[in-house]
Amino acid sequence: MQLPRRIVVYITLVITAGAVIAGYCFWRYPIGGDWSDWLLIGAFAAMTLLTDRYRLQIAPRTNIHLDTIPLFAAVLIFDPAEAVLIAAVGRFFGRLGPRIVPLEHGFNLMQTVVYVGAGALLLNAFAPTPWMPGGLASWLGLLVTVLVMYSLNALLVMGIVALHARTSPIALWRASQPLETIVQGVIYCLGLLTALVVVPHNWAVLLIALPTIAVFITLDRTLKMEAQQRKLSEENAAQAADLRKQATALREAYAVLEDALDAKNQMLQNVSHELRTPLVPITGFAEALREGLCGDLTAEQLTAVDHIFRHATHMAQMVNDLLALQTLDRQHLQLAEVKVADLLQDCITTFSRRAASVGIELRSECAADVPPLRGDAMRLEEVISNLLDNAIKFSPYGGEIVLKAVGLDDKSVQISVSDQGIGIPAEELPKIYRRFYQVDGSSTRKFGGQGMGLAIAKRIVEIHGGKITATSQVGKGSTFYVVLPTELVADAPAAVSFD
Ligand code: ADP
Repeated sequence: MQLPRRIVVYITLVITAGAVIAGYCFWRYPIGGDWSDWLLIGAFAAMTLLTDRYRLQIAPRTNIHLDTIPLFAAVLIFDPAEAVLIAAVGRFFGRLGPRIVPLEHGFNLMQTVVYVGAGALLLNAFAPTPWMPGGLASWLGLLVTVLVMYSLNALLVMGIVALHARTSPIALWRASQPLETIVQGVIYCLGLLTALVVVPHNWAVLLIALPTIAVFITLDRTLKMEAQQRKLSEENAAQAADLRKQATALREAYAVLEDALDAKNQMLQNVSHELRTPLVPITGFAEALREGLCGDLTAEQLTAVDHIFRHATHMAQMVNDLLALQTLDRQHLQLAEVKVADLLQDCITTFSRRAASVGIELRSECAADVPPLRGDAMRLEEVISNLLDNAIKFSPYGGEIVLKAVGLDDKSVQISVSDQGIGIPAEELPKIYRRFYQVDGSSTRKFGGQGMGLAIAKRIVEIHGGKITATSQVGKGSTFYVVLPTELVADAPAAVSFD
């Protein structure tokens, strides 16, 4: 297998540096002691190796060296030469063995060898052997050692990473995570201090081993959780991709629907225009005939002309409604302050005679605190008129219709029309606002109308930024609610409606 050139350079550097430092340490402090020392060295090497392996899995890009605990303990408990051995063995198998030196791990080996070696030398300079019995100078020496080793390590890491990432160490420091760095520092210090405490008893090394094992267990859990989280986030990502696909499909379907709707609206508008044009001369001439402007007519002729005139006018009204529905938009509103009580009263005046003629009591209730609205009074009257017209039309002889207004809060007013009429089946309620829709659409239906009133009412309410709803019980009656904002809100619905 051909290793990249820079990795070969790294390995060469690492081995050379390690060999120089280790050689010096072995020369200075030859390994002695009995087999139990070797046993402990083996245990530490294994611990270093394991912690290092875990660290790589848990945080491959971070710089928290958990293996520092056993490593520094080793520096203090054994001879530095032995510690270097432990470090080299642990690191070698931890990194080089299973991974064949990915670049980012290469420098860590060198770094470890350097800081352990440097630490050992420094420690030796302050206190003649690592087993220091106490004394201020020794403690001070230890402290300086920790700081220097830590700084050396940080500098080295940053320098090499900066080199590798082709950026400046200062920029790297700014981008680093201070918390992580502090945690790393604390681990270093704890490792050293713990080691110092247990120095006189070799077997007390277990005290260090136990927390390390605890770290393993925690790490194990963390790794499992991480794996679960990874799985979850993969599932989430898959679901999100699915949702994105569905959203795209929906958007496409919506666009198709919108095109179809545009075409339908355009056709309706054209047809309405074409129908209106001949209706003007028809009603005009019929009226002229009726008025006798074209000469005297017999009684029969008059009746016929009257029929023509009334039906043509009716048809013109229908066409106008259709056109209004197509084109009615917010900019067509003639906005002014509308006093709700006056609005209700005008409607009552218009409909009271008709209601009385079918034995219906029509009354209005308007709370005193209902705020005025900003809207088009004529259009709003049209809405209420359509509702009252239906209420009367769909009520049997007798009964009561209540037109009511309440202020819901400072910002909206609710106007309702309740009747005791035939009611509307629940499944029909969402459909009654469609153009030309009638619950009883049969040719034999009892009630007149074209199914346009509610569609127009809905349109007018919506361009005012309001909402129209209804509740109903078959055989008992219906109530229509119109909620209108007192001020027109900017985001009233657009001109397109799917009804
Ligand atoms: P129409 O001209 O038929 O009254 P609308 O659009 O005003 O048209 O109403 C649509 C349909 O809703 C009506 O045909 C009727 O079936 C039903 N509807 C509306 N208002 C009432 C009501 N107050 N009571 C019972 N049915 C109603």
